[in-house]
Amino acid sequence: MAEKVTISVIKADVGSVCGHTRPHPSMIEKCKEVLADRAKQGIIEDYYVTRVGDDINLFMTHYRGDNNKEVHQIGWDAFTEATKLAKAMHLYGAGQDILTDAFSGNIKGAGPGSAEMTFEERPAEPVIFFMADKTEPSAYSLPLARIFLDPFTTTGLVIDKKAKMGFDVEIHDVIKNKKVVMSSPEETLSILSLLGDTSTYAIKRITSRAGIGPAAVVSTDKLNLTAGKYIGKDDPVCVCRAQSGLPSVGEYTQVFMNTMLAAGWMRGSHYGALYPCSPEESTPAYFDGPPRICALGFQLCNGHLQGLEAPGIIGDKQPVDFFAGAEWDYARRNAIKASRFMRSQGPFMPSILGPEEMEYTSRPEVLKELTSRFENLD
Ligand SMILES: [Mg+2]
Repeated sequence: MAEKVTISVIKADVGSVCGHTRPHPSMIEKCKEVLADRAKQGIIEDYYVTRVGDDINLFMTHYRGDNNKEVHQIGWDAFTEATKLAKAMHLYGAGQDILTDAFSGNIKGAGPGSAEMTFEERPAEPVIFFMADKTEPSAYSLPLARIFLDPFTTTGLVIDKKAKMGFDVEIHDVIKNKKVVMSSPEETLSILSLLGDTSTYAIKRITSRAGIGPAAVVSTDKLNLTAGKYIGKDDPVCVCRAQSGLPSVGEYTQVFMNTMLAAGWMRGSHYGALYPCSPEESTPAYFDGPPRICALGFQLCNGHLQGLEAPGIIGDKQPVDFFAGAEWDYARRNAIKASRFMRSQGPFMPSILGPEEMEYTSRPEVLKELTSRFENLD
């Protein structure tokens, strides 16, 4: 059997210029330097460094499996180096996603988010990297549910023999740190019953029931829970394999033409609509948002990321930038329209999140001050 390839995405916000906007270019260059060095050492096969809003995303390919210490160490090294630059420039939130002083062998719980999948590379292996800023892991639950559970969205679920066999959906309770694996199509309605509660449940992984292996994996690290206090939203990534028994590339992207609300946006405390765009356009400029979503595509080629550059290039890759095109102006306009409507509610729910999800609140102090003034009703 062929050696299995692993795709690891590790991402973090370690500082940006003028609020929660975008990292300084030198931080991205520093991350590229670290990854180039580790590729040279043979720890990883290939890499790509990009950003969405204020988050730096490291895409890496290797043959070391999920949760590999050396690979996670690369993420740690890149982000601690980028943090040094951010601190020297007094950038906003410098080092905010670095929660520990020393690396313990796994990036999980250390602050950065991660999503990894290991599988046997097919002769043609299209991979889409979704990256979101100013939102949380469960923001992918609605689009992934439509892609993998809804035949009125994904025609492949009806007409592709392997896709028709269904998918196993691993759902995480991000509060209690528990997981459950459920199967579609049999348990579709029960799956949706959980996923509808976006404050508790999020899709972690979706696996083919036709033996193709993992189809999608999401970073579900809850940064605010890990840190014990609010330090920023979790800004999740989602890696997806496409075609031949899995949703096609177009079936993945089409769903983002819909207007979908997600928690996050300003101060991580509002609902805004997902705004599909190129990484170049992902600087959140309207009320620190609305939540951005980017989609970059590569082919895998013997463990390497093949983009639009000449074959064999490591480093300066050129992915297919799915949401860069003008057809997405329609979705973007609708996202702004929906987001403006949500803003018209000001500090009232459902513009702001429910009390258990608010990242900032002054209510405890207000209630404390009012203790002696509150009277019982008759
Ligand atoms: Mg961010």
